[in-house]
Amino acid sequence: MTVTLLLEPLPADARDEDLASTFRQVPADAPALRVGELSTQRGDGVFETIAVTDGHAQETGPHLDRLRNSAVICELPEPNLRQWRAAIDRVVGLLPAEGEFALKLVLSRGVEHGPAPTAWLHASPAADFSTPRAQGVSVVTLDRGYAHDAAAKAPWLLLGAKTLSYATNMAALREAHRRGADDTIFVSSDGFVMEGPTSSVILRHGDLYSTPAPSGAILHGTTQMSLFDHLAETGRRTEYRDIRVEELSTADAIWLVSSVRLAVGVTELDGAAFPYDAEETRAFNEYLLTPRE
Ligand code: PLP
Repeated sequence: MTVTLLLEPLPADARDEDLASTFRQVPADAPALRVGELSTQRGDGVFETIAVTDGHAQETGPHLDRLRNSAVICELPEPNLRQWRAAIDRVVGLLPAEGEFALKLVLSRGVEHGPAPTAWLHASPAADFSTPRAQGVSVVTLDRGYAHDAAAKAPWLLLGAKTLSYATNMAALREAHRRGADDTIFVSSDGFVMEGPTSSVILRHGDLYSTPAPSGAILHGTTQMSLFDHLAETGRRTEYRDIRVEELSTADAIWLVSSVRLAVGVTELDGAAFPYDAEETRAFNEYLLTPRE
């Protein structure tokens, strides 16, 4: 079961009341994009992946805020968030009321020399992540190839924007698999913990939960933010800071968190067994599966 909507992006400040006429559903197997699309030719566009859980789109507000932020970094026209919300509602209304789905929002620079950006939404069933959620993942650290303050020095790298150019992230995952691991944690060239290729990293030392400060070189994860709010509300201490790579091995638990896979605990780090907190991981995922705004 998939749902695809093509969207004609409105200017951010448009007050068009007939939002529904700006998107249309297309069949999954029908051609929908032009060959000149810069998203496909150059990865020149931004995206979000939202979890739809039992008929509820999770964290829509934070995802749309990040879509807008990514568009600003990439100097794309700012998305009209009312329009995207209406399109998300339409997709969710067409999905079954039960089950987990991944809803991708894409805003591309459009067709080469074309007048306007192109945009679409595509929902498909989420992969079955019950095993990594319950049993954890093995992880290797990999060098990201730039310093943790690279975003300020080289804004043209577009770090901090969720661009469509994920080829290097996927290459890092293949390298992790070659090294016998399930996933990877990127480390900056100056020795700081960054993020996974598709996830944020959370460490627990004693009763303190920490995550790398969103300095612009990593994405600020919506799942990590939501989990930190939940931890704070339930009396736990959380902090953002620069985390040295050596601190990974002194943590008493590490999680990779992301919108669709949710929280997975690290069971092995760079080939050595790592303490895995099955009970807390289960509690995290129980929270992450509840409807969240
Ligand atoms: N960092 C990167 C590079 C990602 O691709 C993702 C998600 O795909 C995340 C972090 C986690 O973000 P979120 O929790 O919003 O899914």
